[in-house]
Amino acid sequence: MTEHAVLIVGGGPTGLMLAAELALAGVDAAIVERRASQDLPGSRAGGLHARTIEVLDQRGIADRFLAEGQVAQVAGFARVAFDISDFPTRHPYGLGLWQNHIERILAGWVDELGVTIYRERAVTGFAQDDTGVDVEVSDGQSLRADYLVGCDGGRSLVRKQAGIEFPGWDPTTSALIAEAEMAEEPELGTRQDAAGLHGLGRVEYEIRDGEVVFADHGPVRVMVTEQHVGSQREPTLNDVSEALIGVYGTDFGIHSPLWISRFTDMTRQAAAYRKGRVLLAGDAAHVHSPVGGQGLNTGVQDALNLGWKLAQVVKGVSPDSLLDTYHDERHPVAARVLRNTMAQVALTRSGDARLDAVRDTVSDLLGMDEPRTRYAAMMSGLDIHYELGEGHPLLGRRVPDLDLVTAEGPRRVFTLLHDARPVLLDLGEPGGLDITPWADRVRLVHAGFDGTWELPVLGSVAAPAAVLIRPDGHVAWVGVGTHVGLEDALTRWFGPPGQRRERPS
Ligand SMILES: Cc1cc2nc3c(=O)[nH]c(=O)nc-3n(C[C@H](O)[C@H](O)[C@H](O)COP(=O)(O)OP(=O)(O)OC[C@H]3O[C@@H](n4cnc5c(N)ncnc54)[C@H](O)[C@@H]3O)c2cc1C
Repeated sequence: MTEHAVLIVGGGPTGLMLAAELALAGVDAAIVERRASQDLPGSRAGGLHARTIEVLDQRGIADRFLAEGQVAQVAGFARVAFDISDFPTRHPYGLGLWQNHIERILAGWVDELGVTIYRERAVTGFAQDDTGVDVEVSDGQSLRADYLVGCDGGRSLVRKQAGIEFPGWDPTTSALIAEAEMAEEPELGTRQDAAGLHGLGRVEYEIRDGEVVFADHGPVRVMVTEQHVGSQREPTLNDVSEALIGVYGTDFGIHSPLWISRFTDMTRQAAAYRKGRVLLAGDAAHVHSPVGGQGLNTGVQDALNLGWKLAQVVKGVSPDSLLDTYHDERHPVAARVLRNTMAQVALTRSGDARLDAVRDTVSDLLGMDEPRTRYAAMMSGLDIHYELGEGHPLLGRRVPDLDLVTAEGPRRVFTLLHDARPVLLDLGEPGGLDITPWADRVRLVHAGFDGTWELPVLGSVAAPAAVLIRPDGHVAWVGVGTHVGLEDALTRWFGPPGQRRERPS
């Protein structure tokens, strides 16, 4: 039987990100993936929000994505677009890049990190005991791991077999999406009517002066809301054609589909992200309408939160109770996404004068500076705040990517996080902080910084003398001239001093 420290079921964006995080931490993680390659039968997510670009920047790979995508202002709420170019981040924008490219680039990185991927195989069952999980694979092979993580999408077998409840709401709207050729010139852009939102656009596009400019020719990406919800049948070209005629009065001579798919606004969230040695991340833990483009982003950030914690538990550095903080921190983040997508779906319905009035009212409110800033920070993921207790506003928030001066020369904070290790950033007099008992795990960096500390939404905050930064870029402790609480924070997040259990090989 082949053993790994961690087995990840599903090599979509979430599983790939998690595998990379574990590999960076030196943990033997493997992915079991049903698909033969990263090719997707359909373009799902259309891009990345600012916080996800920051997260990739923390690992030194943001440029790979930026080089292939189109930078644009993509954040919005219920069709109210936000411009975040004044936000205090190095990436005050989103990135238009189809999911198959996002996955290809992530898979290339995972490959460089030497992660094993068992392709064209599906996990069919598992059983956990006190020391690990036995996993059955469709080719008859048995695998064993210390921990199993279900990154296996909305229909997650791992979630179902673990007996984790998936409460929520059934769909109220259903849309067909397709990529196909059209004999006639389609009406490019979006249209809204009583059935909902529809859109036609060329697959190839550019962003010019902040506007999407579609290519003159080439395949068209169709999104058309269906008249009825609940079809379980695989959609056909005829279904797309009929739906287009229902909305536009013509199907524009649609033919030669590359793929056809359906999405709904089904909204559900796993009641628990962990059951013993089994964890869930990404769509396996939460599904919702794609409005606002938050699904892939939330999954990648789940993986970022879980990866270093799982690595420490596997290595015996931290007790397994550290894994409970994964649910505590990430469940509320996705619950907020579920709530905002439900609100947006409701607001994008039309044909009801009262709902139109609510939409206008919300639009007015979001035109005001403070609501605009708060909602833009939420939709771009830049305001995510884990509840780590009372204290300095930085506590639990993402560390800003400051330009530091260090003994080795200028350094960005995010550069210090490339190897996914925790950092204690000491901005006071050198020698003031001693973390020798954690020196094998936490990197101490002395640096100078002259500028202001600015956070999205909150604005300027008092400059700290030191910050303890977790591998996910969130601040675990803030020093304001004293060391009070530092040892507790080091122990809480990175294990008791000197604690280490080597995994038997
Ligand atoms: C139309 C549409 C538009 C979207 N737009 C956006 C957007 O703009 N922005 C955004 O952030 N998100 C968007 N999303 C959501 C996004 O596509 C998902 O949130 C994202 O793919 C989730 O990633 P994941 O890795 O968690 O799951 P998935 O991408 O579903 O990956 C799961 C993987 O697990 C594999 N698998 C499943 N079961 C097994 C098994 N038993 N054994 C082995 N392998 C298995 C599957 O083959 C798959 O590769 C959109 C979704 C849709 C449908």
